[in-house]
Amino acid sequence: MTDRTPTADSDADPAVRRLDDWDAAELRSLADEYDTPAYVIDLDRIRQNYRRIAAAFDAAFDDPTVMFAVKAHSGRAVMEALLDEGAPMECAAAGEVFRALRAGADPDEIQYTGVNPPDDDLDYVVGVWEDAPEMTLNVGAEDSVERLAERGFDGRLCLRVNPGIAAGHHEKVKTGAHPKFGIPYDAVPDVVERVRAEYEMDVVGLHAHAGSGMLDEDMDAHAEYVGKMGDLAREVGDLDFLDIGGGFGVPYRDDEDPLDIDAVAERTREALGELDATLKLEPGRYLLADAGCLLATVNTIKDTPETTVVGIDASMTTLIRPAMYGAYHGIRNLTNPDAPVEPLTVGGPVCESSDTFCRDRPLPRPERGDTVAIGHTGAYGYAMASQFHSQPRPVEIALEGGEARVARRRETFDDLVRLEE
Ligand SMILES: *Cc1c(COP(=O)(O)O)cnc(C)c1O
Repeated sequence: MTDRTPTADSDADPAVRRLDDWDAAELRSLADEYDTPAYVIDLDRIRQNYRRIAAAFDAAFDDPTVMFAVKAHSGRAVMEALLDEGAPMECAAAGEVFRALRAGADPDEIQYTGVNPPDDDLDYVVGVWEDAPEMTLNVGAEDSVERLAERGFDGRLCLRVNPGIAAGHHEKVKTGAHPKFGIPYDAVPDVVERVRAEYEMDVVGLHAHAGSGMLDEDMDAHAEYVGKMGDLAREVGDLDFLDIGGGFGVPYRDDEDPLDIDAVAERTREALGELDATLKLEPGRYLLADAGCLLATVNTIKDTPETTVVGIDASMTTLIRPAMYGAYHGIRNLTNPDAPVEPLTVGGPVCESSDTFCRDRPLPRPERGDTVAIGHTGAYGYAMASQFHSQPRPVEIALEGGEARVARRRETFDDLVRLEE
């Protein structure tokens, strides 16, 4: 356990926590104690983010349900904190259902959303549902409904809709118009009618997820999307809930404004119109992104004719978002913040040119051994870490109530070979 001096902002509730808001001395001492690379996740900040979005939607809607999209981070400590806040778990895979149950979720606090669900996933979730008939299963193809029926499922069914409107920070996360996701918008009323006529299941909800990373400038698209979903829910009728998905964005760059979440909730209510069904949402990124950072140590400084290369011990296997989405993550030198600023290219130990966190970004020139922090890694950070290049996954340190603890230990070389026969 490490004593933690509260950061200046830990009692307040800023709409976004910037990388500079983290206490440098505290992060350096975590790096010393737990070694690097190390993910830091602040459970208190996650709770703040949950309360803020829940309060915003509570003010605009009658008893909305704000779930947590587990795929943003399926670690036990994170789920426990959010379950404690009262967040139901939105699970996009059977493995996530397994982990949510293990973290203490009640099965009726779990919604399962299957995209092209493998047989084993359906077997598992129907098995869980058999002991928990209040659990809701959400699928986006008639085919999947049939496969659930084959397994004896006759419980609460939600149908995923393809709204034909996409949003998001990158093509790879825009799901709202991609044919892979959901039943085509115009076909939904007929599908619902058929399912209601032909199966014993109870169609209790409609669901859609437009994409990930919405900021204020995407509000018009959001309103259009929500309006379409409201129209569809009214046409289908007799629903317990309408689930509009996640996608609420967080500014990764210092010059971007945080989402005005109260305005989003208000705009959502206006766009939705009157609806005799509960509103559900399932944020992931919004709850977690600014609650995490990644600590790394500088091991190499190399001047080249084009740029100065800074090598660190975190890589694309630790945090894949820059390589995969071209995502921007702030980088802060915690040891030598006042060194002269130079254009730096920061990369890790993986033998791939995509293993680069930034190119020619003006940053203080570090020295070997300096600790750096990479910002906004709470969502889709650890969750997407891999063992590629035989890189053991890093330790994850949870901060809570002024104390630090290991949420997940650092992997060892033995962990790399553990499953080999
Ligand atoms: C990924 C996902 C979310 C969460 O998206 P965020 O952008 O992290 O809020 C919500 N719902 C579904 C179905 C998802 O696949």
